[in-house]
Amino acid sequence: MVDEDFTAEAAVLDAGDPLAAMRDRFLSPQGNDLVAYFDGNSLGRPTADVPQRLAEFTERLWGDRLIRSWDEQWLDWPARVGDRLGALVLGAAPGQTVVADSTTVLLYKLSRAAVDAQAAHGRTEIVLDTDNFPTDRYVLEGIAAERGLTLRWIEADPTTGVTLEQVREAVGPETALAVFSHVAYRSGFLADGPGITAAVHDAGGLILWDLCHSGGSVPVALDEWGADLAVGCTYKYLNGGPGSPALAYVATRHHGHLRQPIWGWIGRKDAFEMGPGYDPADGIRSFISGTPPILAMVPLEASLDLVEEVGIEAIRAKSVALTEFVIRLADQLLVPLGVEVASPRDAATRGGHVTLRRKGFREITAALWAQGVIPDYRDPDGLRIGVSPLSTSFAEVAVGMFALRDAVVDHDTAQ
Ligand SMILES: *Cc1c(COP(=O)(O)O)cnc(C)c1O
Repeated sequence: MVDEDFTAEAAVLDAGDPLAAMRDRFLSPQGNDLVAYFDGNSLGRPTADVPQRLAEFTERLWGDRLIRSWDEQWLDWPARVGDRLGALVLGAAPGQTVVADSTTVLLYKLSRAAVDAQAAHGRTEIVLDTDNFPTDRYVLEGIAAERGLTLRWIEADPTTGVTLEQVREAVGPETALAVFSHVAYRSGFLADGPGITAAVHDAGGLILWDLCHSGGSVPVALDEWGADLAVGCTYKYLNGGPGSPALAYVATRHHGHLRQPIWGWIGRKDAFEMGPGYDPADGIRSFISGTPPILAMVPLEASLDLVEEVGIEAIRAKSVALTEFVIRLADQLLVPLGVEVASPRDAATRGGHVTLRRKGFREITAALWAQGVIPDYRDPDGLRIGVSPLSTSFAEVAVGMFALRDAVVDHDTAQ
């Protein structure tokens, strides 16, 4: 197929896309140098109403109501926004999700709570994989060092991910906690959520799912899976903005006995009594530590309004169509140039991005950024095409992939 055929096909796909109108609900770049944005899986775009919503927040809730807003509504925001996330993207009934801190900090708090509870049963191992996101590996290394636990590493295939069979082999009577990403940040591999959860439970372990790369692009069913714990960030497919607070899910059956290690005043029973000694608040609130980042929840809620309008299933359907299109373009335009598709080809085991591999992608990515085509680069040799379903068109994908092909050719010519 030549470029014109792909361009024509993109036009047909855009015309038939039930989510096409959502693109206009995102802020148009003012500098207008943007040609194709392929990094919505790292930092989502702001919705068009974010400037106005932030202005209203500043003027009314902050400027007018001042400290009164804490009592009037802000103290409820972590759990209220958490419940929205639970209902819209996590498959979690109310009262189990909060928005607070960062993913790294929540991962620490929840993992520590889990291993401490499991210590009572003599369980001393944390199961994790070599290809998980760095912060996950580091935080768990830190917890193992702090609590004298053993890390049991699963060697994950970097072009696929952690399989159910590998998990079954790794877990056992020593397993305290297993931590995996639902969608692998490198390959985009979509792990078997319900299967792996059941396998960890069969061994008596607890499971924590990192949902950073699935929240807002792949449906998650935490309650249905019987998951224990989950964390995730809200600035990727959930478009919450740089540094927007993370989410934490703790299944109701664990409330009251799982104890997180950062005993801050906001997570205490009757926080405003400011009394002596720490006594955890009831329910999910005890997983909060200090003052929640309220301001940073405003753009997130704007994005959740869009998710609510269309539903996560429609988002996933578009995501699959986008990644299929990326792979077809890659096969035709890039594979002949020595590029390898390093993501699963079966949509059932693929999340919302496609990773391509080839020598020179680090330099090629820099050249593309200079032209307004924005993928990202991950060692070794990986270029990620992250196609955020609500804000990406098929035409944008085609144009960006043509630019990538041209950049590869230019790179080789210059060598
Ligand atoms: C993006 C990402 C994180 C980020 O953690 P922060 O604390 O927000 O920096 C963690 N885990 C995974 C799997 C991610 O993709």
